[in-house]
Amino acid sequence: MAHEGSFFDLRPPSVDKLLQTDRIESACLRYGRSLVTDAVRDVLASFREARNSGSAIGQDHSIKLIVDEVERLLSNQAQPSLRAVFNLTGTVLHTNLGRAPMPEEAIRAVAMVTRGASNLEFDLEKGRRGDRDSHIESLICKLTGAEAATVVNNNAAAVLLVLNALALRKEVQVSRGELVEIGGSFRIPDIMARAGCKLREVGTTNRTHLKDYAEAVTARTALLMSVHTSNYEVTGFTASVPQAELAELAHQHDLPYVVDLGSGMLVETKQFGLPHEPTPQEAIADGADLVTFSGDKLLGGPQAGLIVGRADLIAKIKKNPLKRALRLDKMTIAALEAVLRLYLDPDRLAEKLPSLRALMRTRSEICDLANAILPKVAAALGAAASVRIIELDSQIGSGAQPTEILPSAGLAIEPVGGKRGRGARLKSLTSAFRSLPIPVIGRVKDNAFILDLRCLEACEDFLDQLERLTVP
Ligand SMILES: *Cc1c(COP(=O)(O)O)cnc(C)c1O
Repeated sequence: MAHEGSFFDLRPPSVDKLLQTDRIESACLRYGRSLVTDAVRDVLASFREARNSGSAIGQDHSIKLIVDEVERLLSNQAQPSLRAVFNLTGTVLHTNLGRAPMPEEAIRAVAMVTRGASNLEFDLEKGRRGDRDSHIESLICKLTGAEAATVVNNNAAAVLLVLNALALRKEVQVSRGELVEIGGSFRIPDIMARAGCKLREVGTTNRTHLKDYAEAVTARTALLMSVHTSNYEVTGFTASVPQAELAELAHQHDLPYVVDLGSGMLVETKQFGLPHEPTPQEAIADGADLVTFSGDKLLGGPQAGLIVGRADLIAKIKKNPLKRALRLDKMTIAALEAVLRLYLDPDRLAEKLPSLRALMRTRSEICDLANAILPKVAAALGAAASVRIIELDSQIGSGAQPTEILPSAGLAIEPVGGKRGRGARLKSLTSAFRSLPIPVIGRVKDNAFILDLRCLEACEDFLDQLERLTVP
């Protein structure tokens, strides 16, 4: 067994020599010999490179230093790339941070169907092949009052599929005020083109009237469509056509009327103290033949796109080959079924659904939380930064009610020191929080790192890891 000498040498030790040290041997037990050998080679190569470029670190080739580096590299590599973070951005349904957190019921359901085989496409009653949509279709119909329903990978896929199934090589009328772009390059005109249909723009950006639609309908029209302008609001001199009037016009021409709700919600959000969010029930009551909405926006479930409406249209959609390409996997179906079941008991929804729970927290509750954790955060930062409690405005996120704000509170952390180098200190502060075992994501505003505490639930985990915070 080689000793961990602390000698200086112009030449780094050999791979074999390093592999014989106690620490590297125990690393092999933990990570496997193959990964460890690769890491040793990589670290030796970087030391050699440093020596050749004459840097100071390149002069010390003690085994200890090299083994430290190998262990650091292995531990970094062992971290999964996709992992949990604390979303303290103040945007509850943050698309970049995975949107809706899942309720325990959904997590258990996913674990149950992934551990082994399931009746994904098997009818247990009849003992023959079944349909994967069957696990959720009747639930969705019960909750929305729709005749039929189907589900795909996300709402973008839902819109694509509806258009391709019902309007291939035909025209679709959409108001110019509704040609939205959702983040991540989902643009209605582009989706139309990819779905193989022709967008027929109607009206103007700020005003569209019923007669604009009526004049635009031709023999080539396949359907009329409304798109919820989820991430912006047109104000001032505006006019748009109510759903019920558009539905009537479509039906006069024997055309389906389709509504892309974007977020959508299955229950009245006002009862939870939130702004009203359009529901598929309302659209159906107004005469919509099909409605599409997201599973992971206000609904609070997994990424999915729900399509509800007339049975004959849903049947046509299900037969489209794209449906097979866009179908949900069993994990998502399990999670979505569990979340939809929570809606059967609306009285307990706010308690069970984490996204709704976060959206309903009051400023005073969040302030209490801020007061409770402030001393520990201040202690972890020491002399490096100051912390104070501030009032904040959170957002729902994911395009739901973009102009509405939710009164919130949180911590403002400011690096100590004068103006010079302030930007750099703020940068290393945010990076230190991102380097924690469960990275903490906040936002930077007015020279401070802001943590909105609306979404902080696992408080112990948050505080426990603060002892590992290293602010330079
Ligand atoms: C969010 C949104 C979409 C896309 O939904 P995803 O579930 O993110 O694919 C489509 N249309 C509207 C109006 C939206 O708000």
